[in-house]
Amino acid sequence: MKAVVVGGGLLGMMTARELSKSGATVTLLEQGQIGRESSWAGGGILSPLYPWDYADSVNALAKWSQQQYPQLAEELIDEGGVDPQWTQSGLLVLANQTTADAMFAKATNWARDYGIACERLDERMLHEQEPELAEAHTQGLLFPEIAQIRNPRLIKSLRASCLKRGITLLENSPVSGFLVSGKKVRGVSVGEDKHEADVVVICAGAWSARLLTSMNIEVPIKPLRGQMLMYRTSPGQIKRITLSEGHYVIPRRDGRVLAGSTQEDVGFDKSTTQEALLELRHTAEALFPFLAEAELENHWSGLRPESTAGIPYICMISGLEGLFLNAGHFRNGVVLAPASVRLVTDLILQRTPILEPRDYGLER
Ligand SMILES: Cc1cc2nc3c(=O)[nH]c(=O)nc-3n(C[C@H](O)[C@H](O)[C@H](O)COP(=O)(O)OP(=O)(O)OC[C@H]3O[C@@H](n4cnc5c(N)ncnc54)[C@H](O)[C@@H]3O)c2cc1C
Repeated sequence: MKAVVVGGGLLGMMTARELSKSGATVTLLEQGQIGRESSWAGGGILSPLYPWDYADSVNALAKWSQQQYPQLAEELIDEGGVDPQWTQSGLLVLANQTTADAMFAKATNWARDYGIACERLDERMLHEQEPELAEAHTQGLLFPEIAQIRNPRLIKSLRASCLKRGITLLENSPVSGFLVSGKKVRGVSVGEDKHEADVVVICAGAWSARLLTSMNIEVPIKPLRGQMLMYRTSPGQIKRITLSEGHYVIPRRDGRVLAGSTQEDVGFDKSTTQEALLELRHTAEALFPFLAEAELENHWSGLRPESTAGIPYICMISGLEGLFLNAGHFRNGVVLAPASVRLVTDLILQRTPILEPRDYGLER
């Protein structure tokens, strides 16, 4: 089988890799450079934020993926030599006095249903876990098994793995149309160039809807900008991914600390703004005051592929045999990727799917 994957983010590379593992000959087409969009910009938290507020269909993908990540990281180290730094740093969720009881009750019920470890921390335990946390915080919920991965390293390791597996990676190749005969897709076009294939999988992130409009297919995916900061600190000063009122910090192994993130409906504009810089600094430094003295090393943005309720589209596009979609992962594309690529590959190969596909179709 010949497959074309459109889009060289995490979803595209992992889909290409999974198809190649099952024996397909795969070409991946990327309009710019591989892994420079949302997949590079993301934080790499391997859990939805506040997962109890998400649909079961999102949590099912997350749970399947979380179980795969340690093995995936090992495989990628073996195949490409780049360590994506899967790290079980744990997730600490903070809440204020008025919201804590309700939120913690909902969260602990959810954790019990999904078999995920969680522990309520009082003030003393909280500050033992995170000695640099601002004193104002008095209550937290710890999910010790939640892990993180380092996006740019994951991209590097996937790229190396794809090349090692003989996948053709073509950059600067914007797909502009589809080759169709009758009711079957026969490939894609990049300007005058044609790439024939039995199967085409669209993994074009926030751009997926724009691409499908050329076929009069409407998909409710749109860009939602997120800005992020990175501080340089000493390793271990912050131990856990820490989430408070929608903002978070992520401590990397080498002491870098990411602070995120904004949610801005500004179309395909990837600028960074002074306003977001101040907002992110304010929230990160209110959590961990020592960050105010730390070097601020970087500030960037990315375009999340926003979909309704954050449920991705992992499906065949009905009426066009051979055309598949794996996009719209919104805030959770990293954590949902392994299950999403496995599910789309199950659909392509007509295997028994790992999860009920109806939940991820366009007509749900
Ligand atoms: C600030 C921020 C923080 C985040 N934090 C997390 C987190 O902690 N955990 C988590 O799980 N998720 C997180 N996310 C979300 C996650 O990064 C995304 O859901 C995920 O990266 C989407 O991957 P993708 O491959 O679908 O999209 P992308 O990485 O955007 O890749 C799509 C690719 O398709 C290419 N493309 C588009 N159109 C065409 C075309 N016509 N032809 C060829 N190529 C095309 C694009 O150039 C792009 O490279 C975050 C996102 C942001 C922005």
